[in-house]
Amino acid sequence: MTGFAGKSVLVLGGSRGIGAAIVRRFAADGATVTFSYAGSREAAERIAAETGATAVMADSADRDAMVARVRDSGPLDVLVVNAGVAMMGDPGELDADEVDRMIRINVNAPYHAAVEAARRMPEGGRIIIIGSNARDRTGFPGLAAYYMTKAAVQGMVRGLARDFGSRGITVNAVQPGPVDTDMNPADGPLKDMLHGMMVIRRHGRPEEIAGMVAWLAGPEAGFVTGAMHTIDGGLNA
Ligand code: NDP
Repeated sequence: MTGFAGKSVLVLGGSRGIGAAIVRRFAADGATVTFSYAGSREAAERIAAETGATAVMADSADRDAMVARVRDSGPLDVLVVNAGVAMMGDPGELDADEVDRMIRINVNAPYHAAVEAARRMPEGGRIIIIGSNARDRTGFPGLAAYYMTKAAVQGMVRGLARDFGSRGITVNAVQPGPVDTDMNPADGPLKDMLHGMMVIRRHGRPEEIAGMVAWLAGPEAGFVTGAMHTIDGGLNA
């Protein structure tokens, strides 16, 4: 497949899980792909060797380092902000510094990355941020801070879509439900509860999320912007 031949794609957080599937998908479709990682160097090197993509170390919690990576990637046709972390627990017990770090990764980073990428993005550019279906329905306790970060993604996507629309740049969120990754393994302790809330009673596959991202990045989605695209096996139905 060569649907993205000649296109330059940056995926923030591409070493594992959904991000790795997005890297694989764009690389298979002919794009020139760069992706960032923070802690998983070996995994990143494996994905790079497998796909021909370029792996760069950049911690999304470090705004200056992350923005520099976006800038150094040159004019981008597509920016995908996938890097994210999730914390679960009693809000009174969670480490406040870790909560703030999650906010830097899940909220501050996508905003600043999108703004930086848009500076040099050509007409037809695409910005896609991975949110969460948990934004639309707080199914169970212990995730207030995480939900908060993914709610913020909705606000920035709507606002930035209006800010960049006149330049032909679209901004969208993809909101997965349970997807089988290190963050939320299909055989993890939440499996039965999650599947019990779903119409399609299984975890999603990272490739299924990558497929939606690729569609949003492609020519058929030129009229789609400022929108939330939930892909969750009907959990929120
Ligand atoms: P994983 O934990 O499996 O992978 C997370 C990816 O993000 C890794 O590549 C990791 O890289 C990268 N990342 C994390 N922190 C940083 C950082 N500080 N700087 C740069 N990269 C970072 O998670 P998933 O693949 O499951 O999740 C991907 C996205 O999808 C997240 O935004 C998550 O919130 C969202 N999501 C996931 C759901 C699920 O059920 N899996 C459901 C709803 C939303 P490294 O290891 O190198 O640091």
